[in-house]
Amino acid sequence: MTVDVIIIGGGPSGCAAALGLNRLGYKVVLCDQAKFPRDKVCGEFISPAADPILKRLGVLNRIEALSPKRLKGVAISSYEGEEIVIDYPQLPGMDARPTSLSVPRYELDAIFVEQVKQVGVEVREQHKVTDFLFAEGRVTGVRGWDENKTSFTLKAPLVIDAGGRNALSLKKMDLKKESAENTKIAMAAHWQGAKIADDYCYMHISRPGYTGISSVGKDRSNLVLVVNRQSMHGEKPDTFYLDAVMQNCHRRKILQDAECIESVRAIESLAFSVKPVTCGGLLLVGDAMGFIDPFTGEGIYLSLRSSEIAVEVADKAFKKTDWSNEVLKDYEVRRKQEFDKKFLLSRIFQKLIYSRFFCDRVVRALQRKPELAETLVGVIGDLSPAQTAVSLKFLLRLMSA
Ligand SMILES: Cc1cc2nc3c(=O)[nH]c(=O)nc-3n(C[C@H](O)[C@H](O)[C@H](O)COP(=O)(O)OP(=O)(O)OC[C@H]3O[C@@H](n4cnc5c(N)ncnc54)[C@H](O)[C@@H]3O)c2cc1C
Repeated sequence: MTVDVIIIGGGPSGCAAALGLNRLGYKVVLCDQAKFPRDKVCGEFISPAADPILKRLGVLNRIEALSPKRLKGVAISSYEGEEIVIDYPQLPGMDARPTSLSVPRYELDAIFVEQVKQVGVEVREQHKVTDFLFAEGRVTGVRGWDENKTSFTLKAPLVIDAGGRNALSLKKMDLKKESAENTKIAMAAHWQGAKIADDYCYMHISRPGYTGISSVGKDRSNLVLVVNRQSMHGEKPDTFYLDAVMQNCHRRKILQDAECIESVRAIESLAFSVKPVTCGGLLLVGDAMGFIDPFTGEGIYLSLRSSEIAVEVADKAFKKTDWSNEVLKDYEVRRKQEFDKKFLLSRIFQKLIYSRFFCDRVVRALQRKPELAETLVGVIGDLSPAQTAVSLKFLLRLMSA
């Protein structure tokens, strides 16, 4: 079978690419090894800047129909001491302060896949792509196995790999770069009965790591813990997670009458970057293009935006009937322009939060200068460009506070 575009992965990035290309009239097949609905370890809150993209993709109404939680901003505590609550800023042209959706991935990703099916894209669930087809040095299709272990082959001038952090391209083309210091592990579970004071994402930074807690509706909250693997001393994630979570006084207060209602799921080697693709016929979107750390919680927004850019570049390639790396590398350039500063900010946060000295001081400075706090949360929420906070001017204002 030959189509215009094959998409590997039906997470937010794969579905966004499928919906964008379908709207432009391209024939798309999307393969995912999973059967939906499927779950995913995630903080489950989506940057407020994603709302317009979700609307463009036609999924916002479906999400709103679930009456989801909407968060007003972020609350940060530093090493059980200083605390600050920061609302997303109301920027010029906005009617009100923006909010961020907080939706279980089990529901969100199922909505995405349903929408892709509804617009007429062929979705092949339980289809695992295991290899690429090549001709004249560029990718021209994929092969894999379906749920009956029957092999399949699909051909297309363009393949979009939206396979997430373990995407096929990363393995087959050796594109993943992981630093030796990358020993972070994330553990997540849903809770019932948590006493969450208000609609914020609560980030508690303390030893052995940090947590993000937010309500995901219907008396359910999601709690993600991120620590260095070494601090686990070989303990099992379930017992370690519950112990570590209760070590923090703010979390104990929130969770005193709460119950962890599922087994803890863990993800290792959190951060990685990705070398540029060197062959034609292939684009990487979403987590497949690299992942820093969930502290600033914007992976879904970045995934959706990367797919929007990929769709524009793919459209240009089709118009030129040229899917060579020369044409497709425009995606890499645009993606870097848009995201590099954001990735830098995320790296700065990584240094900052693991030092009590700096973390306390920054939280105190933000308490004194609420306008700086709002600027920072505006950038984290992808409402303002990253250079607003990644600048000497911002740093000097922070230091003077
Ligand atoms: C601990 C943690 C907390 C996070 N918290 C947040 C948060 O609060 N907010 C936020 O915005 N982001 C958060 N993120 C990031 C977010 O989860 C990701 O950025 C997002 O899921 C990326 O979407 P994606 O579509 O690229 O990949 P995924 O959602 O991972 O989807 C990839 C899909 O590809 C399929 N697939 C993979 N390989 C193949 C193959 N070979 N053949 C067929 N199918 C395949 C998989 O089955 C999967 O369905 C967090 C991440 C982590 C690890």
